[in-house]
Amino acid sequence: MSTTMGSSVGTTRDAAGSEVCIGVLAMQGDFAEHIRHLQHVGARAIEVRTLAQLNECDGLIIPGGESTTIARLLLAFDLMEPLRARIRDGLPVWGTCAGAIMLAKHVPALDRPPIGVMDITVDRNAFGRQIDSFEADLDVTGIEGQLHAVFIRAPVIRDLGERVEVLSQLEDGRVVACREGGLLATSFHPELTADSRFHGLFVQMVREALAQRERRGATA
Ligand code: GLN
Repeated sequence: MSTTMGSSVGTTRDAAGSEVCIGVLAMQGDFAEHIRHLQHVGARAIEVRTLAQLNECDGLIIPGGESTTIARLLLAFDLMEPLRARIRDGLPVWGTCAGAIMLAKHVPALDRPPIGVMDITVDRNAFGRQIDSFEADLDVTGIEGQLHAVFIRAPVIRDLGERVEVLSQLEDGRVVACREGGLLATSFHPELTADSRFHGLFVQMVREALAQRERRGATA
């Protein structure tokens, strides 16, 4: 979304197909790694800590970190409600690990309300303390070949609503990636490997959302 020049900028940018702007919520967690991957796949990437920065984004990533802290800081920085409003308005958002927890409507054991926009339940620290970090090779819908995934005190996703599509599961069937419209949740951290394909997938989603918005704008 352009804050300064209205939809004409969006049209030009989308026609060029490159200058999409992806924000990474940069209050806590591993936001710098996401920025590097976004730049690698050709997106403009900015850190988001203010409303003005949020309004500049065509899509947003909420990184891994500590969901209790991210929830507190969103409230303290007065970004919780503006972010919910932009998501209602169609902003594509991808949450990794703590970010996925923030997107879920239902999170047992979170001491603040999450953003609460995806029709899923997310169990925090679902793999227990002893094996709270592990790696696995996953099949992911939309990505060719396997993806090496890093899980760190990771959550699992359950009770998916009707409109939520499973993108990846562990061998035991537990869901670790899913999508609901423009919202994407992963239990693992694609930002912590050298593989940028998941970021490419999200940037593509954001481009499609922009193009769709412009088609709607053109026919309105
Ligand atoms: N366990 C953390 C939480 O509940 C998430 C860990 C992570 O993002 N790597 O917020």
